[in-house]
This record gives sequence, structure tokens and C-alpha cells, in this order.
Amino acid sequence: MARYTGAVCKLCRREGKKLFLKGDRCYTGKCAVDRRSYAPGQHGQGRKKTSEYGMQLRAKQQARRYYGIQEGQFHKYFLMAERKQGMTGENLLRICESRLDNVAYLLGWASSRAEARQLTTHGHYLVNGKKVDIPSYLLKAGDVVSIREKSRDSEKFKAVLEANASRPVPEWLDKNGDDLTAKVVKLPDREQIEVPVEEHLIVEFYSK
Ligand code: SF4
Repeated sequence: MARYTGAVCKLCRREGKKLFLKGDRCYTGKCAVDRRSYAPGQHGQGRKKTSEYGMQLRAKQQARRYYGIQEGQFHKYFLMAERKQGMTGENLLRICESRLDNVAYLLGWASSRAEARQLTTHGHYLVNGKKVDIPSYLLKAGDVVSIREKSRDSEKFKAVLEANASRPVPEWLDKNGDDLTAKVVKLPDREQIEVPVEEHLIVEFYSK
């Protein structure tokens, strides 16, 4: 399935909640969910009842859209999560959180997950000193991520870092004082993951 290239605020309005896809704008009064809290389209204000299946589908779509993951890859993550010990839903979210593009966003090295994905493919981030240009690269405890030396001096990166300097970094990531290197201390517990979905609905969706 092709990547969605339309207006991302429509995705939030479709889901009826903020998915934080647009960086700083999401925290301002310009947020489309705050201004028009109904689904887009002609019948947006008429849709009310949701079936059990509909709720499960929406939960899966919300998580996918929040992280910017395509259906095929998301399903693969679900199968990986099932094979791991512990709760499948939590495992699934932990896998999504450990993606390089997500970690770069959480560290404030990009204004949105979409921008982090683009910066990753352009080779701006290193993992354990080596360039990794795969946004879906899964990090593990002990990995050290950093911004490539050459990128650090670019005006683009300076602006991105300055704009996101005040964003709180989750405890499972240990950012160095220079803000340009960070270590994955451990993969996150559920309470450290902020995605606004009930993951058991996703498990139910794929378990049918
Ligand atoms: Fe747009 Fe961000 Fe608001 Fe979503 S949360 S509607 S992406 S401004």
C-alpha cells in the first residue's frame, strides 16, 4: 500500500484525536482537531455509532498513523510481538517505539516523526558510530544514537535542534549533555509510551 501523502490533519480528525503528526503546530490553537472535532467529509458530523470491529480497526489505524507505519510492516510487527514473551499489545508498541525514526523524534532531533523518517533516509543519524539510513531500524538496549558530525553544523539541523530543545525526553533514553548523542538505556515500559490507543483492541483486530 502506498504511503499516504494527503493532509495529515485529516487523519487526526478521522480518528477523532490528536496523533501529533505536525510538530509544533499540534500544540497550538491551530490544531485542526481542536478547531473542528468531527470527522472530515460531507458526513463527518453525522458519524456516531461504532461497532466492536470498527473500534478495533480504528485503534490499529491510530497506532499506524501515529508512528507512520504502513500496513504490511505493522502486521509484521504484530507477528514479531506475538512471538515475544509478555503481552502482545505492549510488545507491539515497544517495537514501534524502538524504531530509529521514532527515537530521533523523541530526542528532539526532528520536529515530527515524518521529518525524522526523512532525515533518517538522508543519512543524518548514526547508530553505534555507523550511518543507518533505514527509518524502521529497530534499536535495542545499549545502542548509542547520534547525529552525524557533518550534519551537526548545517543550518537546517541547528534550527531543528533549537526548535525542539525543550521537548521532554523519555526516561528510557539518556541524552548526553551536548544533545547530539543518546543511549537507549532500556526499551520502554507501557507507561512510558504515549501513543493514545488501547493496544488490546489491535490484538483483537489481528486475532480474528
Ligand atoms: Fe494536525 Fe497535529 Fe492537530 Fe493532528 S494533532 S490535527 S497533525 S495539528
